[in-house]
Amino acid sequence: MKAIVLESPNQIVYKNIQDNHLVDSNSVLVKPRVVGICGTDYHAYMGKQPFINYPLVIGHELGVEVLEVGCDVTNVEPGDACAVEPYMGCQEQGETLCFACKRGHTNHCLRLKVLGVHMDGGLCEQFVVPSNKLHRSGELKYEQLALIETLAIGYHAVNRSGISAHDTVLVVGAGPIGLSIIQSINLVGADTMVLDVNESRVQFAKKYFGVKNTFVNPETISNEMRSILNGDMPTAVFDATGNTKSMESSFDYVGSGGKIILVGFNRENIVINDEQFHRNELSLMASRNALPGDFTNLIALMEDGIIDTSHWITERENWSALVTTMSIWSDATELIKGVVDIS
Ligand SMILES: [Zn+2]
Ligand SMILES: [Zn+2]
Repeated sequence: MKAIVLESPNQIVYKNIQDNHLVDSNSVLVKPRVVGICGTDYHAYMGKQPFINYPLVIGHELGVEVLEVGCDVTNVEPGDACAVEPYMGCQEQGETLCFACKRGHTNHCLRLKVLGVHMDGGLCEQFVVPSNKLHRSGELKYEQLALIETLAIGYHAVNRSGISAHDTVLVVGAGPIGLSIIQSINLVGADTMVLDVNESRVQFAKKYFGVKNTFVNPETISNEMRSILNGDMPTAVFDATGNTKSMESSFDYVGSGGKIILVGFNRENIVINDEQFHRNELSLMASRNALPGDFTNLIALMEDGIIDTSHWITERENWSALVTTMSIWSDATELIKGVVDIS
């Protein structure tokens, strides 16, 4: 079968690889129909993703059609349309449950492997996935199903934060992760403001995600927010940049008693001024990936029309063209979400 393979950094090819087959009675053979491409894929392509072993079939944002099911599978059947939860934990790896999995925190399993990142993913004609990682929908289109993983990152972070309609929230970074956070804050009903140095991204958030107050200058944002909030500051700040300087600046943007939720990540140290942290009795938390319930809740919210995804996808391409499109998309700062069709 055909697949999109990263042979090494900057080497992306469309080529034949071995067919996949059912591996056990709980496995499912699926055909990816629409695959979203994100920052993780661009980083892998550019050789900036440290834990990648090349060659790798990328693709972890997946809208798939079920082709064949193992004899013990009861949640899906051939022809079903599903989103894939790409996080393979202890159960899927046939291991004894780790500390996190035992407590149901499969999103940060100690052995976590993500499809298309740590193991071959879905940019191919068929692949095999454990049945419990498939979330079916009788109504959503494959394009919508391919968006669910991205939306789940923000949905999980907002749930973890515990914010309510009374909060005033700043989201730093208006790329896909920032937008997925904003979309879930809108569900809660809190007021959202956005900071991104890219003017076109903040305009996109304003136009399609109902954000009233946007900022592009990290130097002046504190004063601008104070004047909008009558001298106060936000009660919660979500960082969706993974940029060290931005993450550290979050502590300057949050009001006394507020929360900082780091969603974007990097491998560096971030410096916290403890006097500032303690004086304001701040709370700091990380949010990683998403849980199975986040996927099922999002599917229901999209089916009920409560979440509108019509503005999300800004580029579409046939998958074989990705060998040339990848370098263009990875450079395009105005791109929100590019998806590829596998037909
Ligand atoms: Zn992604
Ligand atoms: Zn585990």
